[in-house]
Amino acid sequence: MKSSVRMRKILAIVIPGAMLAGALITTPVRAQNGPAIRFCLAGDIMLGRGVKRMSDRYGTGYPFAGTCSLTAGADITIGNLESPLTSAEYQSSSPWHFKGDTITAAQELKAAGFDMVSLANNHALDCGSQGLFHCTEVLDTAGIAYGGLALTMVETSGDTVILARPSYRWVKNKKIGLVAFCEPYLLDIAKDHRAGNIAPADSACVSRSIAATRDSCDIIVASFHWGTEYKDHPTRTQKKLGRLAIDCGAKIVHGHHPHVLQGVEFYRDGLIAYSLGNFIFDQREQICRESALLFVELKGDSLKAVSMLPLEIVGNRPVPAGKKKARTIEARLRQLCRKLGTMVIGTGRTTELRPTVPKNKPAP
Ligand SMILES: [Zn+2]
Repeated sequence: MKSSVRMRKILAIVIPGAMLAGALITTPVRAQNGPAIRFCLAGDIMLGRGVKRMSDRYGTGYPFAGTCSLTAGADITIGNLESPLTSAEYQSSSPWHFKGDTITAAQELKAAGFDMVSLANNHALDCGSQGLFHCTEVLDTAGIAYGGLALTMVETSGDTVILARPSYRWVKNKKIGLVAFCEPYLLDIAKDHRAGNIAPADSACVSRSIAATRDSCDIIVASFHWGTEYKDHPTRTQKKLGRLAIDCGAKIVHGHHPHVLQGVEFYRDGLIAYSLGNFIFDQREQICRESALLFVELKGDSLKAVSMLPLEIVGNRPVPAGKKKARTIEARLRQLCRKLGTMVIGTGRTTELRPTVPKNKPAP
């Protein structure tokens, strides 16, 4: 059963705007044993445009109806919210701008079991800072934690550093921390972006943010909006940052933005999912409608089981893939994962992932 408790102790000194009034938790509560925790990770969730039109036509809960039992059945469920939930006006001059309904959409997300979302993406500011701020209020009201906002801190030396503001959830007596980042080139194209709104995926911010979070929680999930759209394989930057996140103490790297699936890598004691593709989106291209949910079972500090459940997006919402489509997605995952040293084993409806090479291999 999902539960959440928030504990906050303010360390922030300089924060860009009242909306980012943030917090770091400093109470070490590291526990290595206890029951297994099952994570469910989803890719891009876009609740505007064609998805909203379908929701308006078919009613509340439409986008999540085909997968709700899966996402709500995990102990903790995390996705990337690619459309701000706000009534603010669009600020983006790009033809590709999104926004979803406000509290109704957030409640749908919550009812589908989403506990935490990343807001660090290139659409977070489609309705400007006001839209992002409104979205955080809406998520707060619905009880969904969010990561990805930036926190500017002043060190004792007087230097300022930017960190990703972490968010937390308690699950089975373990404290889960989410830190989220967006590749800087994606932030540059976001209208109304000002340094400090969204945490940048650069080495300094990633390493400092995870270092600032790791002693205050048991398990860190690092979420990244990165890479290149429609590319099958991760870029060098994705590999560098994903591995850096694990080196710094993250256990799971949750990647998104390419709109297509990329491979999964077992690296040291952690796991990097480079792109989980679309989860809820209205793109028409076949490859963008082949997706998967990632399930990760952790026992103490160890990865006990990793699997993916193939999905197809039909009518702008995901459903478990039929037998033939599941085999197609599984074959694609097998090919994508092979290069990353990951074995893909089909077990019928789910696809099990295991490392084929020692996990401590050096980065090429
Ligand atoms: Zn994106």
